[in-house]
Amino acid sequence: METSRTAERLSTRFVAGETLEDALAVGRRINEEGITVTLDHLGESVTSLAEAAEARDVYLRTQAAICQSGIQANVSLKLTQFGLDLSRDACHDNVEQLVRHAAEIQSFVRVDMESSDYTQKTLDLVTDLHAQHDAVGTVIQAYLYRSRDDIEMLNERGIRVRLCKGAYLEPPRVAFPKKQDVDGNYVELMKLLLDKGQYPAIATHDEKMIEATMAYAAERKIGRDRFEFQMLYGIRRDLQRKLVGQGYRLRLYVPFGKAWYPYYMRRLAERPANVFFILRNLLRQ
Ligand SMILES: Cc1cc2nc3c(=O)[nH]c(=O)nc-3n(C[C@H](O)[C@H](O)[C@H](O)COP(=O)(O)OP(=O)(O)OC[C@H]3O[C@@H](n4cnc5c(N)ncnc54)[C@H](O)[C@@H]3O)c2cc1C
Repeated sequence: METSRTAERLSTRFVAGETLEDALAVGRRINEEGITVTLDHLGESVTSLAEAAEARDVYLRTQAAICQSGIQANVSLKLTQFGLDLSRDACHDNVEQLVRHAAEIQSFVRVDMESSDYTQKTLDLVTDLHAQHDAVGTVIQAYLYRSRDDIEMLNERGIRVRLCKGAYLEPPRVAFPKKQDVDGNYVELMKLLLDKGQYPAIATHDEKMIEATMAYAAERKIGRDRFEFQMLYGIRRDLQRKLVGQGYRLRLYVPFGKAWYPYYMRRLAERPANVFFILRNLLRQ
């Protein structure tokens, strides 16, 4: 799929392009709309430490390019792209280089959250890194039962959290199976973050979650500069413009690179209508 020309054209719905230059061009355009960016170089679950080192180098170049171009952006990454499955120490060293670099250029590294097999390992690594440099934060998924405890721990340490619903297929042993329970937990966790979190990111396209956040911030007199909304590139542009028009901060998650297939499949799974969109376009080719 990743090398097929037709499939590649379809991937542009959610992916900025294959190269860093593509990502910077998209980032610049998004900045012009008053929206900041987090760049994600696609890739996960590498099978050699050489690939992990390559990923680190791409990210170092990305950070340098962001700094030189003056684009309002930081980076997001996945630990399995940095060798977590192969060597915890090597993964730590790779990510530490990026966090140190981010601190030097007054930027930030967001460590995405992968499936529940990685939750504890991710939090351990992020808290270790944060003890040295505060230019790192992570992501908490509202579908996991454990998330309230994790947010309390991260709030206490002043570690920045992005709150999302969660994108992986998890068993009922660890995650709420019903959407309405995930949504209920999302609202509770959002409140905990707005009250006690360090510049939280409320990442969702769900208008109910967004409205609940606006209402809670207004009720508690929490300024619009004390948190940001985040959305994925290519999803709900109407809502993105509306939020910015109302004076809220918004950051878009912009993936780029060749390894777009798993990311793309998660986006299709979130919304069956996307599959029909893809099929319609395939038939048009
Ligand atoms: C900035 C950002 C970073 C993220 N980082 C992570 C992470 O590190 N780990 C992780 O597990 N998950 C991550 N996610 C994904 C997240 O967990 C959800 O899977 C995803 O955001 C969909 O949930 P939702 O909050 O939009 O609500 P939903 O209830 O799923 O959707 C609400 C509405 O949003 C729109 N929508 C949602 N998804 C799509 C889509 N794919 N295509 C078109 N419309 C859509 C639809 O209108 C839908 O009705 C991230 C999401 C964002 C926005």
